[in-house]
Amino acid sequence: MARVAFIGLGNMGAPMARNLLKAGHSLKIFDLNPAVVDKLVSAGADSSETALSAAQQADIVITMLPAGKHVESVYLGEEGLLQRLSSRPLLIDSSTIDSETAKKVAAEAERKGFSMLDAPVSGGVAAAAAGTLSFMCGGSDSAFSQGKEVLGAMGKNLFHAGDHGAGQTAKACNNMLLAILMSGTSEALQLGVDNGLDPKVLSEIMLASSGRNWTLEVYNPYPGVMEKAPASNDYQPGFMVDLMAKDLGLAEEMAVKSGSAIPMGSNARNLYVAHQKKGNGSKDFSSIIQELK
Ligand code: NAD
Repeated sequence: MARVAFIGLGNMGAPMARNLLKAGHSLKIFDLNPAVVDKLVSAGADSSETALSAAQQADIVITMLPAGKHVESVYLGEEGLLQRLSSRPLLIDSSTIDSETAKKVAAEAERKGFSMLDAPVSGGVAAAAAGTLSFMCGGSDSAFSQGKEVLGAMGKNLFHAGDHGAGQTAKACNNMLLAILMSGTSEALQLGVDNGLDPKVLSEIMLASSGRNWTLEVYNPYPGVMEKAPASNDYQPGFMVDLMAKDLGLAEEMAVKSGSAIPMGSNARNLYVAHQKKGNGSKDFSSIIQELK
C-alpha cells in the first residue's frame, strides 16, 4: 500500500481521496479550505498544515485543483513542491488544466528528478464517489505503470494518451463534446416541453432512440426527471459552470493553436460564458438549460 499525499479536496478530490482510504492506502491531505479537510480526517486521513508537509513522506502526490494557476502555485516557484521536496515521490496532477502548463510543470519536475503524470479525469462527482472515473494520462510508460495501482483505486478506465500534456489534450476534447451534448440535450428537452411534452417521457424516448447520450443516461438537466441529478437539487454542483467555461476556453485555445475549426464548441463556450456572466458560475453545468427557457 502506498503513502499518498492528496492536495485539493473539493467536489472531486474528497470522494477520490475517500476511495484511496477504502483501498487501504495511507493518506496525508491538504486543502486551503479547512472544512473539507475535517470531513476527510473523520474518514481516516491525516491533515497537514501545508502541501509540503503532506507530500514530504509520500510515495505518490496527487493534486486535484481548480485551474493551471493553482497547479503552478503548488508545484513551481521558490515555495513550490519541486523546489522544496527532499524526497522524489511520483507526482500526479488530476486537475483539468491547459496542456502547455502541464508540459511546463512536468518538464521542470523531470529536471529536478521527479516522474510526473498529467491525469485529468472524466465521470463527474458520482463516478468519483463510485471509484469509476476515467483517467487520461500523459507521461512516460514507467510513470504510468507506477501510478496504475492508486489510479485504479479511484477509477475503472486508465488510459495512457501519450507524453506529457496528452492527458490534458484528451480531456479538453472530451469536455468540449460534453458541453455540446449538455447544451444540445437541454435544447431538445426544452423544445419538447415548450411543445407540450412531459420531460420524463421525452427523456425516456430519446434514451431509447438515436439521441441517447451520457447526459440523458446519468445527468438529465431537466428538474425532476432524475432524482439524483443536480437539476433536481437546485443545480448544486456537481461540476460548476465556472469549470466548464474554463474547459471550453482551454479547448478554444488549443483549436486556435492547431488551426482547428470547432464551430459547435465555440457556440457551447459562448452559451456557457453568457450563463456564467449572469451570476451562475457556481451552479452545476447542467443549469445551462435555464438559458433556453
Ligand atoms: P472544487 O473547486 O470543488 O475543488 C478544488 C479544491 O482545491 C478546493 O477545495 C480548493 O480549496 C482547493 N485548492 C485551491 N487551491 C489550492 C491550493 N493552492 N492548495 C490546496 N488546495 C487548494 O473543484 P472540483 O470540482 O473538485 O474540480 C477539481 C478539478 O477537477 C478541476 O480542474 C475540474 O475542472 C476538474 N474536474 C471536475 C469535475 C466535476 O464534476 N466537478 C469532473 C472532472 C474534472
